Amino acid sequence: MDEFDLIHRITPKETHQRSLIMGIGDDASVYQPQSHCEEVVCVDTMVEHVHFRFDFSSPFEIGFKALAVNVSDIAAMGGTPKYYLVSIAIPPHGDETIVTALYEGMKALADTYHMDLIGGDTVATRSDFVITVTVIGEVPEGTACYRHSAQSGDVVFVTGELGSSAAGLSLLMNEVAPTKAVDAAFFLERHKKPQPHIAAGHICSSFPRVTLNDVSDGLASELNEIAEASQVTIEIEANKLPIHPDLPMLRKDWLEWVLFGGEDFVLTGTIPEANWGRFEKKCRQENIQITRIGQVKGNQAASVLLTHNNQQTVLMKKGYNHFKK
Ligand code: ADP
Ligand code: MG
Repeated sequence: MDEFDLIHRITPKETHQRSLIMGIGDDASVYQPQSHCEEVVCVDTMVEHVHFRFDFSSPFEIGFKALAVNVSDIAAMGGTPKYYLVSIAIPPHGDETIVTALYEGMKALADTYHMDLIGGDTVATRSDFVITVTVIGEVPEGTACYRHSAQSGDVVFVTGELGSSAAGLSLLMNEVAPTKAVDAAFFLERHKKPQPHIAAGHICSSFPRVTLNDVSDGLASELNEIAEASQVTIEIEANKLPIHPDLPMLRKDWLEWVLFGGEDFVLTGTIPEANWGRFEKKCRQENIQITRIGQVKGNQAASVLLTHNNQQTVLMKKGYNHFKK
């Protein structure tokens, strides 16, 4: 595979962002920042056999997800994604068809959000694919949603439902068997092609003092991060956690997926109680599923407490171990 050929093939024929001055084709890209906005930037790496496998997902789906996990981080700041850059290390088994499909998967998601591919790097590797995606976005000045501003009395919420991605992975790994009654396709789709919650993030950033995290490592882990950053205690109730109705049919201990599964890429966070009503209404108007799952309590110890079957336990940060039982 020729590197210059490849770069030529993946260079977008047209771009969406009017503030882009120079995209792919020079030493670096150049764009005009919007006035009254702050730039939001993140990067994530996906490694073959660690984060993805070609026998589980198609190259298109893997590309889609590599961008989606980054767009989800922008959503968790309340931002709007605008540009992305891709560094790809290609092993000997990575032919042109695979690489092209990876970029098509990224482009499918990028087009949804009018994002432009504005650069990257191409190298060879000896054994596994490594895909590193950087996303640049923006948020109106002073409105980004951080983890450190939760206070006693705030409402704890989650957008979308939990545990579906982990259920999808378990189905792929034959750890659980689907029955006819289970919508297996739904869970597989949630795992392979997660949808970042950009619209929900926008609503969050339009309210003051919202804390936000995207559920990548699992609800327990994300809420612990908010509790630590804000130095508060977060109390949640197991029977309020939103799930797909078929989830309990797949596994007796389905709550493990919900709390620790991760990769749901929904948003979880806190909002002052006084704004909850208006916040919930705005979400419903935009067809965004929003669920109240608990409350922030006093600020003695940074911890997360789960009430389940009338018992309260400390929810530790443990996350899901990909491809390891
Ligand atoms: P340089 O030697 O200046 O880094 P490259 O040949 O690496 O130039 O890249 C040329 C152009 O192609 C640059 O605009 C770069 O950002 C872009 N590019 C290179 N590899 C990729 C890739 N895998 N994905 C997207 N853009 C890429
Ligand atoms: Mg280069």
